Amino acid sequence: QAKSQTASDVCFFDPGMQRRMQQRAQLYEDLLGALARSELYLVYQKQVDQLDCVTGVEALIRWRHPDRGLVPPSEFIPLAEERPLIHELGLWVIEQACLTLVDWVQQGDDSTRTVSVNVSPRQFQDPGFVARVSDILARTGAPARRLKLEVTESLFVADRDGVERTMTRLKALGVTFALDDFGTGYSSLAYLKRLPLDELKIDQSFVRDVLDNATSSAIVASTIALARSLGLDVIAEGVESAEQRDWLHRHGCHRYQGFLYGQPAPLSELDFSTL
Ligand code: C2E
Ligand code: MG
Ligand code: MG
Ligand code: MG
Repeated sequence: QAKSQTASDVCFFDPGMQRRMQQRAQLYEDLLGALARSELYLVYQKQVDQLDCVTGVEALIRWRHPDRGLVPPSEFIPLAEERPLIHELGLWVIEQACLTLVDWVQQGDDSTRTVSVNVSPRQFQDPGFVARVSDILARTGAPARRLKLEVTESLFVADRDGVERTMTRLKALGVTFALDDFGTGYSSLAYLKRLPLDELKIDQSFVRDVLDNATSSAIVASTIALARSLGLDVIAEGVESAEQRDWLHRHGCHRYQGFLYGQPAPLSELDFSTL
């Protein structure tokens, strides 16, 4: 009996799985030192209005691994989110975004153009998060109104009161909030009214087939209507074609982000010339 249990255990930990677990552990080890070795950097993607003016950029993290090359955030952000590392990493992204804003101001840009950063739900569990953000804003002198925090619906699944309090305190610092990947989460729509949100981001999965899938176009049209009636800004992500952009425009969405306007790139490579 005991022997057959052992056999099945051995079978469960097959060599392939063991190798993948080791690779994951190794990747995490590498990630721990990645910040100090300057392997992490941000690229930025433009957000434009209906006149093609750049209204903001979204900061997206990149990791150039010395052996593996570019590791996508979908692979290493979940690793960081399993441990306290996400706090350090998340604050680093916010600080970089703030330094970018300060740079713009120093170059004479006193517009309302924003920098958006993705914030992991786990970062909200850090009781010192608000104080840290406040500290970064004070230290860098970045205009808080131009810092936009992107959160996802998964944030609202647990501890809604705590999340609401934290968001309200962050709002009091002057920052704004966008709800990313809207429509892909599970939570009720009631939180849209309760939480201090400024913007809905229509998820790219709906934008992708908005022209030829009736469900997607219905979801996108309803999201635009919902945002309008709640007084929220709305932006579509993953806009790849002029046809998608025109459809969105006809249905009342006037802000866009996607490959149609450019790939995420280092700031120095972004062209803001339409401003
Ligand atoms: P997201 O915040 O929804 O970011 C949009 C993703 O769509 C980005 O992928 C972007 O490169 C990609 N994208 C932009 N335009 C298009 C388009 O027209 N078509 C298609 N197919 N894709 C487009 P990326 O950079 O690989 O990031 C993936 C996700 O990783 C992000 O999704 C975000 O959830 C997360 N992430 C990225 N940077 C950070 C970060 O600094 N912190 C945290 N916590 N998460 C991050
Ligand atoms: Mg985002
Ligand atoms: Mg998104
Ligand atoms: Mg996404």
